[in-house]
Amino acid sequence: RWTEVPLAPPDAIFQLTAAFKADTHPNKVNLGVGAYRDDNSKPWVLPVVKKATEILVNDPALDHEYLPITGLPEYTSAAARLVFGSDSPVITEERVTSVQTISGTGANHLGALFLSRFYHWNDKRVFVSDPTWVNHHQIFPLVDIPVSTYPYYDPQTIGLAFPAFLDTLKKATPRSVFLLHACAHNPTGVDPTREQWGEIADVMLEKGHFAFFDSAYQGFASGDLDNDAWAVREFVRRNVPLLVCQSFAKNAGLYGERVGALHVVSPSKEAAVRIKSQLSVLARSEISNPPAHGARLVSLILNTPELFEQWKRDVKTMSGRIIEMRKELHRLLTEELKTPGNWDHIVNQIGMFSFTGISPAQSKALVETAHIYLTSNGRISMAGLNKHNIRYFAESLDKAVRG
Ligand code: PMP
Repeated sequence: RWTEVPLAPPDAIFQLTAAFKADTHPNKVNLGVGAYRDDNSKPWVLPVVKKATEILVNDPALDHEYLPITGLPEYTSAAARLVFGSDSPVITEERVTSVQTISGTGANHLGALFLSRFYHWNDKRVFVSDPTWVNHHQIFPLVDIPVSTYPYYDPQTIGLAFPAFLDTLKKATPRSVFLLHACAHNPTGVDPTREQWGEIADVMLEKGHFAFFDSAYQGFASGDLDNDAWAVREFVRRNVPLLVCQSFAKNAGLYGERVGALHVVSPSKEAAVRIKSQLSVLARSEISNPPAHGARLVSLILNTPELFEQWKRDVKTMSGRIIEMRKELHRLLTEELKTPGNWDHIVNQIGMFSFTGISPAQSKALVETAHIYLTSNGRISMAGLNKHNIRYFAESLDKAVRG
């Protein structure tokens, strides 16, 4: 029975989490997970989410009817203003089509499906950074878009491979699609500078390329929502054709609620209406209607001035703790332990993740001898570090580096 179904390999990250859970060592540390943890390694429900939940629970008018196919309108419109800025011409001229999705993953999927069907392809493929969020490699082929990579990470400098990246942009067939991480690149933590973003936009405009922005960390990276949307807004300002996949998993701590949106920018209001009609058809056949609860929470937060201010403070709490951990790890390695090598990338990188630059063998040694769980590419989740475990981690890393 079903003998033709081959066994698929387990998901590497979820396998790592299972191994961590099974480990009974008292000092074990989980640096694999891509979710925020507080200073006691616990998940954190944002105070603003608690407040919004209370308001919803006590709303006598609340029911459980279906949302419209394209989602809760007051949520999608506020979500669009958050990414593009409320005074953006794409908002004031009604040139953006916004559809509620099953978090960032669903936005990537719907965006990919839409392009697969309707983009004017010269060469049907998407270019993603090498490396990228692993799921990008599965999402695009699922809708018949092959994946190619562009150079992004330079292991020599533990930074951006900028000349090689630009070269790929220049050599690609005109009107190619490039997936760009809006901020806080996963998994490297390496982002282009504003000047580099400008050069990327120049080449993309010149070649007529399309920017597929994945925005999973707005506000979570720098602590400032506008700052983290800078690249997207700059591309809009320069009229680079684009779409944005947006997730509220990290910046609102709503991982399991699956709150996301896809925003497709058009040259005219009339094109935006046509695009919306097609996205509705696609959404209808896949989910019929998106889930209501998380979208109601985010809508309340974005549309209520006091809650919005509280949210900005909560976002700063998370990003601030992560930035503190970067500074402390850097201090321990360079000043106290005098660990061989340059560790400046720890403070230069941004967002949830850091590429440490250690080898797969050193990563393995950390897992096996120190009970510190991280992926074999040397990526650590900064959110897994806190004042209780950071010294143990720094000392273990120091030992692994010294061999
Ligand atoms: N894109 C990137 C780059 C991510 O890191 C993530 C989360 N790991 C996502 C999209 C989507 O996450 P979610 O579906 O939970 O919003």
